Amino acid sequence: MISVADGQSRILTQVTTVTPPELIPVPKALGRILAEDLRAPFDVPPSDNSAVDGYAVASADIPAEGNATLQVIADLPAGSVFEGALAPGQVIRIMTGAPMPVGADTVIPQELVERDGDRIRIPSIAKGANVRLRGEDVAAGATVIAAGSALRPQELGLIASLGFPQVLVRQRPRVAILSTGDEVAEPGRPRKPGQIYDSNRFSLRGQVEAAGGGVTDLGIVPDLHDALKTRLLEASQTAEIVLTSGGVSVGIYDLVKDVLQEIGGIDFWQVAMQPGRPLAVGRIGPSHFFGLPGNPVASVLTFLLFVRPALWKLAGRRELFPPQFTVVAVEPMRKKTGRREFKRGILRFGARGWEVSTTGPQGSGILTSMVMANCLIIIEEERGDVKPGETVLVEPFEWF
Ligand code: AMP
Ligand code: MG
Repeated sequence: MISVADGQSRILTQVTTVTPPELIPVPKALGRILAEDLRAPFDVPPSDNSAVDGYAVASADIPAEGNATLQVIADLPAGSVFEGALAPGQVIRIMTGAPMPVGADTVIPQELVERDGDRIRIPSIAKGANVRLRGEDVAAGATVIAAGSALRPQELGLIASLGFPQVLVRQRPRVAILSTGDEVAEPGRPRKPGQIYDSNRFSLRGQVEAAGGGVTDLGIVPDLHDALKTRLLEASQTAEIVLTSGGVSVGIYDLVKDVLQEIGGIDFWQVAMQPGRPLAVGRIGPSHFFGLPGNPVASVLTFLLFVRPALWKLAGRRELFPPQFTVVAVEPMRKKTGRREFKRGILRFGARGWEVSTTGPQGSGILTSMVMANCLIIIEEERGDVKPGETVLVEPFEWF
């Protein structure tokens, strides 16, 4: 049996190729991975401009103290450029975002002036106040988003602000998913006695899509050796990653490992963790294969720990693991030494700062524990039971 960390690094050393780039429209690029450094083609903002609605003045006309009276010669809305230049004693009414007229270097907010016809009285103000300088956000030629970044809404906005309608991203890794088990029934179909509805294919599909992968749904395969073999071979033709759930334990109908040995190879199949100990990792032809456990919590957990980093590496993403941090445990937690345990947690900001409790019963089949949780609680191999007030590691499900 190997540790979680060793399993992760073995998997990541196997993933060496990156999916090819493709050019797609910016509005379709949320969650995709940038394929090359994105450089600014021009300065942002492209010219000095006003940060407020007010009056553009030359600093030479600003009184050191008291007031000065100046003449308003024009109105400048955002989107217009003043053709002339300011002469001494003149000001221009300027709107937020309008380029600074030649001769002006400071803007006085309109709330600070008194206006009478084309005359205004201005107070003293610092030279350069309320002016946004050309290039202060982004300088022409600078890398604004590095290759391997996942594109969030703010990156899409920045890309658009540089005038790009399209962006070069990595193709989505293709992930084939199938469920195994005679007892697993398709939602919407009648359920025979002894059957349960498939949940894993749906949770895993969501996880793959949330991680930026493209899904091929291969349905449910019964516990029949030849059927499983045919379906897995078919999956490996088209997908970079093949995922199954169920059938990797030590039961007599647990066929995944046998089939994998025939048509590919097993790299490892047991990890010192709870839940999720039975997990078969290997290859089928050119595809990476992950035989995830059948228990619904265990299959999602092993996806997050082992499959998602591989998927992200295939997609050329730089960050392969979410952030983890320590918080105070507010309830006792049972823990066996020698393995890494993962509990579903509720992280909140309380009287003692960030604190975490479990969601209640932690059986690996209790899918509602995942629904109630907003984080994983991670208790390292060497630790035993956790007492209230001790700190534990957490990994939030959502982060930025
Ligand atoms: P197995 O490893 O195949 O023995 O499965 C372990 C447990 O997970 C059993 O209780 C299965 O019924 C359950 N299970 C297997 N596959 C699924 C699935 N696709 N959806 C929900 N539960 C499943
Ligand atoms: Mg099974």
